[in-house]
Amino acid sequence: MAMTRRQFIQIGTATAGGAAVASGLGTRWWGLDGDPVLDPRTDGDKVVPSYCELCFWNCGVLAHVKDGRVTKVVGNPDHPLSRGMLCPRGAGATGLLYDPDRLRKPLIRVKDSKRGEEKFEEATWDDALGKVAEGLEAVRKRYGPEALALFTHGSGGGWFKHFMKVWGSPNIGAPSYAQCRGPREAAFTLTFGMPLGSPEPIDIENARVITLIGSHLGENMHNTQVQELADALGRGAQLVVVDPRFSVAAGKARYWLPIKPGTDIALLLAWANVLIEEKLYDADFVAQSTVGFEELKAHVKDKTPEWAWPITGIRPDLIRDSARLIGSARPSSLIHPGRHTVWYGDDTQRERAMAILVALLGSWGRRGGYVLQEKVGVGPYKLPVPVPHHEGARGKCDVPKGKSYPIATEVLASGLCDATKPGAAFYDLKAWLVYGCNLMQALPKRSEVKEAIEHLEHLTVVDVLPAEIAGYADVVLPECTYLEREDDLWNGPWRKPFVAIRRAAVEPMYETKPSWWIAKELAGKLDLGQFFPWTDGVSYLKARVEGAGLSWEELNAKGVLLGDPIQSCVEEGASLEFGTDSGKVELFSKQLEGLGFDPLPNYVAQDEGPPGMFRLLNGRNPLHTFGRTVNNRLLADPFPENEVWINAEAALALPDFQEHPLEDGEKVMLVNQDDAESGPVRVKLTQRIRGDCVFMVHGWGQKAKGLKYAHGRGASDSELTTRYKTDPIMGGTGMNVNFVKLKRPEVA
Ligand code: SF4
Repeated sequence: MAMTRRQFIQIGTATAGGAAVASGLGTRWWGLDGDPVLDPRTDGDKVVPSYCELCFWNCGVLAHVKDGRVTKVVGNPDHPLSRGMLCPRGAGATGLLYDPDRLRKPLIRVKDSKRGEEKFEEATWDDALGKVAEGLEAVRKRYGPEALALFTHGSGGGWFKHFMKVWGSPNIGAPSYAQCRGPREAAFTLTFGMPLGSPEPIDIENARVITLIGSHLGENMHNTQVQELADALGRGAQLVVVDPRFSVAAGKARYWLPIKPGTDIALLLAWANVLIEEKLYDADFVAQSTVGFEELKAHVKDKTPEWAWPITGIRPDLIRDSARLIGSARPSSLIHPGRHTVWYGDDTQRERAMAILVALLGSWGRRGGYVLQEKVGVGPYKLPVPVPHHEGARGKCDVPKGKSYPIATEVLASGLCDATKPGAAFYDLKAWLVYGCNLMQALPKRSEVKEAIEHLEHLTVVDVLPAEIAGYADVVLPECTYLEREDDLWNGPWRKPFVAIRRAAVEPMYETKPSWWIAKELAGKLDLGQFFPWTDGVSYLKARVEGAGLSWEELNAKGVLLGDPIQSCVEEGASLEFGTDSGKVELFSKQLEGLGFDPLPNYVAQDEGPPGMFRLLNGRNPLHTFGRTVNNRLLADPFPENEVWINAEAALALPDFQEHPLEDGEKVMLVNQDDAESGPVRVKLTQRIRGDCVFMVHGWGQKAKGLKYAHGRGASDSELTTRYKTDPIMGGTGMNVNFVKLKRPEVA
């Protein structure tokens, strides 16, 4: 018997992550330790190890299978990321597996139908892959292999990256960079000589003060980080939360600083001022391991809390006291780097200011700060033939590299989109392969995305569900869920190195296929089959595991193997080397100066919105991973649609609502500064947000008709993101530059 929705909700209620951080911290937030319901030895004919794909964190799971059905998915107790526990989304994996709206067969767009009309004919795999091969071959003949771009998100994307390598195109982009974590990667590379990557190398568990800047852990449900946050708070760690919204984490904070949106750099500079002026910084670390301290000191000399007050709206005594708290716990004082960091277009500089604080606190390499992570050494699959070098191969389309975005460390997904639009002289992308990412919601400015798609000569989408982007495809290839397939090993970096395996718990349903198979078969149709020599996922995995001298049996029995312990922290005063030009932490960045950017972060005021409009902010809910889970009935039942948070007093003052004041739960439309309008969304009247902004959880307002549950529920902030501000340093697209007003739906 599969878990019923009711059973799931019972567990989900006990495990509701957001509530748990806010509630008692002496108990686990998603269950009781030792609860027999969570005992991995019960309830199934077999238990299959895998790692979760409900978000990119990839926690280790054990899938229980009975009579050919997955009955439940629980955390693998041996896995360092899940530690035996899952967030509600991971526990709701069967809601994806048994989603009735899943793509079931390959689809080919009906001849002469328009992209976006969602008119398809079912096809055999042979015909569908033949159609893809035909489309790609035509593009290669006319424009070269580099005219194909891959957009990817998720573990299965690795097979298509391999396809791109042997096909001969370097144009692989992920919205998770330029639309998410890119600015912090650029900033930490500039300052410490290395990007942070994923999972972030931070030791929340042992921090004594944790500072969250616009990061709402607990609603943003990265499992291990939330477990560690709960443990740290339970042991008495203090929390400082900077957020225009009173988030779940703010509810546990010693200081909640409800900052005016767009002014974070001013607060960060004022904190640096207090740390330096009051000698609360780590003078030994600064002297031994950094360059540019004197320039920094002079730079922040006049950036006092009194200076920052009118900018940020935070009283000077609160800025000073919170800085003292942060400084008092160094080096175990953790400035969380955040994850979704594209806000206002000055994001690399904001993240630079955060990285500079990390250095002042001396928390790099220290317990409760930024720590060393390593991977278990597992070599790549050895191909029998070398991948050919293409004569005259063109470089990456990281638009326009060397000129405007010199610090971008990955290809920009938005840049790939730009390079597809007509008149993009710098490149000429003509075909897209889209794996696991709904670009209609992930990229800013839908009109530009649609324009680019209109000019494609071929578009293939590989996905589990009929996301909106699939409606624009020439060919849609249905992938099976992670519970029905093998994928590559997970051996990312962590402070306890490990390697984890994903095995198929059940056979693929319908006519869906794993991505390793799809990529291999497509390659076969393009005479590239020799680069996909494995017969199946198991033979591929076995070759890698045994090639690394690891035990295949043990890995399959446990789902995870731990590497040798590493020393993740350094002794106080240890001499450190950094990957910057100077070999030191660069507080003052000569690299930025040489490129014509501010070598130290400066606060520059953001444009204000039109009168009567609110800045539109977005974020997460603990039950969902944006649009990836909104159609999952198990997860949608407790949180079926998003709502728009608005300050209750600001709502009362709205001129258009004087006669009939807004009511909590009432449905309104949002209209932005360019007259883009959302679908109806419920209002949440609350004191938990400033009066100059509104907040929505991202991922709702789905337009894809095939998502029968999610279609039309809630509102899409993407639809209202008609403007964005590009980060001049790394090309990230700051999207918190849109403003909305509220409007009652017209009564027919
Ligand atoms: Fe799955 Fe939750 Fe872990 Fe993400 S954090 S991988 S959704 S269990």
